[in-house]
Amino acid sequence: MATAVLTDFRQRHRGPVIDAEDAGYDPARLTFNGMIDRRPELIVRPLDVDDVVSAVSLARERDLPVAVRGGGHSVAGHCIGEGGLVVDLRLMRSVSVDPEAGTATCGGTPPACVTALRPRAEPSVTPASAG
Ligand SMILES: Cc1cc2nc3c(=O)[nH]c(=O)nc-3n(C[C@H](O)[C@H](O)[C@H](O)COP(=O)(O)OP(=O)(O)OC[C@H]3O[C@@H](n4cnc5c(N)ncnc54)[C@H](O)[C@@H]3O)c2cc1C
Repeated sequence: MATAVLTDFRQRHRGPVIDAEDAGYDPARLTFNGMIDRRPELIVRPLDVDDVVSAVSLARERDLPVAVRGGGHSVAGHCIGEGGLVVDLRLMRSVSVDPEAGTATCGGTPPACVTALRPRAEPSVTPASAG
């Protein structure tokens, strides 16, 4: 990706933006299945919905295929593509619960949401006693 495009995007995106030149690139492209060895053009870690919107906008402008990463547990590696852009949601860990409505609203990372919700759903279970 052209340097000017990347620089401009980094200014618009609050969360980390990782490309192949960054030291964190190889760890960031690891998934649960260690046999998956794909090299996306860019990995972005949005902090909020605005960041997600700017990432998707970049992908549309540059005609990049998008992969969404939640927990990264897909055995087939569906959360990462060769080339293209990965929208890695692992930093979006918010959870809000409305007990009266019986609903919960989570950020993008399912494992974090499950961990956070469990003690709220079952007040007798604390993270320490959940095993
Ligand atoms: C050891 C192990 C045990 C498992 N046990 C179970 C089990 O007991 N029951 C069960 O049902 N499954 C199980 N699974 C399968 C697992 O639940 C699925 O692979 C699930 O998709 C993993 O979620 P993830 O967020 O980690 O997925 P990822 O690998 O991050 O993504 C999987 C797919 O979902 C898409 N995606 C992820 N997050 C979002 C999002 N927020 N918005 C839009 N698209 C998104 C990705 O683009 C990708 O296509 C297991 C997998 C492993 C490796």
